[in-house]
Amino acid sequence: MTNCFILLAAGKGKRFKSNNPKQFTNYINKPLFMHSVDKAIKSKLFKSIIIVSNIPIKSIKDKSIKVIKGGRERYQSSQKALNFIKNKRFTNVFIHDAARPNFSIKLLKKLNDNLRNNKAVIPYIKTENSTKYKKGNSLQNLDRDKIIFTQTPQCFDFKTIYKLSKLNKLSVTDEASLFLNYKKKIKFIKGEENNFKITTKSDLEKLNIKSFYGIGFDIHRLIKNKKLYLGGLKIPFHSGLQGHSDGDVVVHAIIDGLLGAMRKMDIGTLYPSNKSKFKNIRSPNMLSPILKNLDKEGYFINNIDINLICERPKVSKYRKKIIASLSNLLNVNKDQINLKGKTVEKLGLIGKEEAIACEAIVALNYA
Ligand code: ZN
Repeated sequence: MTNCFILLAAGKGKRFKSNNPKQFTNYINKPLFMHSVDKAIKSKLFKSIIIVSNIPIKSIKDKSIKVIKGGRERYQSSQKALNFIKNKRFTNVFIHDAARPNFSIKLLKKLNDNLRNNKAVIPYIKTENSTKYKKGNSLQNLDRDKIIFTQTPQCFDFKTIYKLSKLNKLSVTDEASLFLNYKKKIKFIKGEENNFKITTKSDLEKLNIKSFYGIGFDIHRLIKNKKLYLGGLKIPFHSGLQGHSDGDVVVHAIIDGLLGAMRKMDIGTLYPSNKSKFKNIRSPNMLSPILKNLDKEGYFINNIDINLICERPKVSKYRKKIIASLSNLLNVNKDQINLKGKTVEKLGLIGKEEAIACEAIVALNYA
């Protein structure tokens, strides 16, 4: 069974009132449409992803993702995508509106499970609002218990949806409508409240985002004949930081901050210094499995604030470069990182340039 994920991102979104279409607006650390793309990739359910967009998307490098041009109306974009994959032998196709970035991977899996015995599986939610229907000049009460609101992703047996889409000339707002118009059977499953459609700018604030904070501290002694690394950046200096690893206090403090916010103990538990396999490990390599885990569990870095405590090297001289290096290592924008240099009035080990310390506070979002 092979699945294809079609992402409809060609809409003009007039109610969003912005020059940049809403699908491309920045939303929780990335372009809105990328949330759907990333979840489709992470679910591992899809052999191919087709993005239908009227704006060229250059940032996509993944070979399993194709970007094609859309039509004027949503149903035409969907028709174009189905036509594009008609000879590619997909058993099933999932069709999703880019304006719904907040569905869960769990929902994708549930849809996929239900597809085994059905030709169309559609998520829906109900309403708590009293509902009226306008007929001519009068309003009628509707029984809200009998009303359902359909969401996307919607998934289908490819051959069936392709046939119906080809026949269709009506401007349907989703593929479930198409199935209903042709009196085909649909399996409805429970959708998600968070899977709302982003229509206006105020919808961008609607998602209930939880925040978690973590604090990290580290100090290493400076020794001769070792390279100095701070924030993953090699810095010319008379000494380097002693330690089992490269001694990068900045990366270590950030790691502890990240682990703290995720409530997953600390760097010492993860990388015990009595294990020889971690000997001379570069700190970026200690960071990457933690970032993978962070991503897998659905956290996003909101911002990081760092105090680098040393007499020399002068932090101001390297601030930009260290931030650029961290932005690259952590895969976040530079403006999400703040780095402050602190001296200690020549006091103690740090004051004598015999040690460097760092503290970092990390804010993670979870949606
Ligand atoms: Zn350390």
